Amino acid sequence: MTPAQRSAELAANLAEVHARIGLAAAAAGRAPDDVTLVAVTKTWPASDVRLLAALGVTDVAENRDQEARPKHEECADLGVRWHFVGQLQRNKARSVAAYADVVESVDRPELVTALDRAAGEHGRVLEVLVQVGLADVPDGSPPAHRGGADPREVLALADVVAGCSSLRLGGVMAVAPLGPDGSPVDPRPAFARLAALAAEVRAAHPSATVVSAGMSGDLEEAVAAGATHVRVGTAVLGGRAGLR
Ligand SMILES: *Cc1c(COP(=O)(O)O)cnc(C)c1O
Repeated sequence: MTPAQRSAELAANLAEVHARIGLAAAAAGRAPDDVTLVAVTKTWPASDVRLLAALGVTDVAENRDQEARPKHEECADLGVRWHFVGQLQRNKARSVAAYADVVESVDRPELVTALDRAAGEHGRVLEVLVQVGLADVPDGSPPAHRGGADPREVLALADVVAGCSSLRLGGVMAVAPLGPDGSPVDPRPAFARLAALAAEVRAAHPSATVVSAGMSGDLEEAVAAGATHVRVGTAVLGGRAGLR
């Protein structure tokens, strides 16, 4: 595929995703620009980030440091905002803090401390979202692990982030849970819980307005529940090889 063909494909996909966001926003009585599209570019080359930026995409997300770092380096001239959305080990905090603008997957105090220190050393201020774990375990079996803090600990974690000099609390993030067998389930109860938690966090920290929820398969439900950011990979870039 030539770059021009890839660009046309991405443009068509973007138009479709923006139409979906627009319809969902209208149905919820919200303005379409209340919702920011974050294109999840994991597994796709830096050349796609470049094409997306030329098509007006302002925010991209990656989930693995070893992939994100070189991609960011190749795209440093683009001025897009880089979101880190993957599970993050503390020893990667220094690397991620060098290039990420937003770290969406913060789910424990040790990570907050590590990111604050690393951002300070790089002379940067990172926006941080507290990732909320929404998996229910009705039958006692372990949930498919998608990361996130226990909902009961989210407010305390938000307070810790807000107290850090090199971090800025942006809000909350979640991934809708899967069923016990890994199959998709109705995301609406989980997104409703997220919305309630987001409101609690906002009550304590009025500038923490971000609610990052919704992916290719459930962005309508997320927008209906108040998502301000949707993280869309497949519907923009196409199917990924492998199981990411
Ligand atoms: C991969 C990923 C997405 C995008 O998923 P799609 O189904 O491809 O849209 C969103 N959020 C996170 C945290 C991801 O890892």
